[in-house]
Amino acid sequence: MKSIALDPGNYSGTYKLVGEEISFDFINTISWPGTEREHDWLDVPGNFILWATAAGIISKSKAKLLSRISGVKLTKEMEYVQSIRYELSKILTPLAFDKKPPEGAIADLNILIHQIVQQRSIDLKTQKWVWNDFLSLREVLAPIIWNAGHVITEIDHARIKHCPSCNWIFYDNTKNKSRRWCDMKDCGSRDKSLRYYHSQK
Ligand SMILES: [Zn+2]
Repeated sequence: MKSIALDPGNYSGTYKLVGEEISFDFINTISWPGTEREHDWLDVPGNFILWATAAGIISKSKAKLLSRISGVKLTKEMEYVQSIRYELSKILTPLAFDKKPPEGAIADLNILIHQIVQQRSIDLKTQKWVWNDFLSLREVLAPIIWNAGHVITEIDHARIKHCPSCNWIFYDNTKNKSRRWCDMKDCGSRDKSLRYYHSQK
């Protein structure tokens, strides 16, 4: 699992790309959601650009340009980024708990999809889908929103799981659907040593 050097602030954990789908990795920018250890990596605005670069959405040179956004504009853009993460989490988290996403949340996603379609084009030379140049943090969300649509409509929901230890969500692409944790080395070994501890008591 690829760990990314996001600024942890005063938090003592690490962030890893474990989701196998970018919309899952985006939602996982909250560590330990719903627990007392909950930590939002995007509270440090620069982390969103670092994350988008590591996730392969933007190039390093684009990241440099986008990191010039500052002040009120940055605050507003980050508020929007976090609100979209909340919207996507309302749809994708239930899938990881074997539930259907609420219809209202899908309707909201449809509105977002209609907006971001303007950012897609067919490249004249390669004749493949491309995303237009990202001019704002808001625009960087487009491939993530698109991926959420892909997750809902095109992938096997039975393989969408949550880590029983930390609640991160991921797509299990193992042959026999045997993946259980976000990361064997992290939550997997923690879980195993806990079980060992309890069995020794
Ligand atoms: Zn975990």
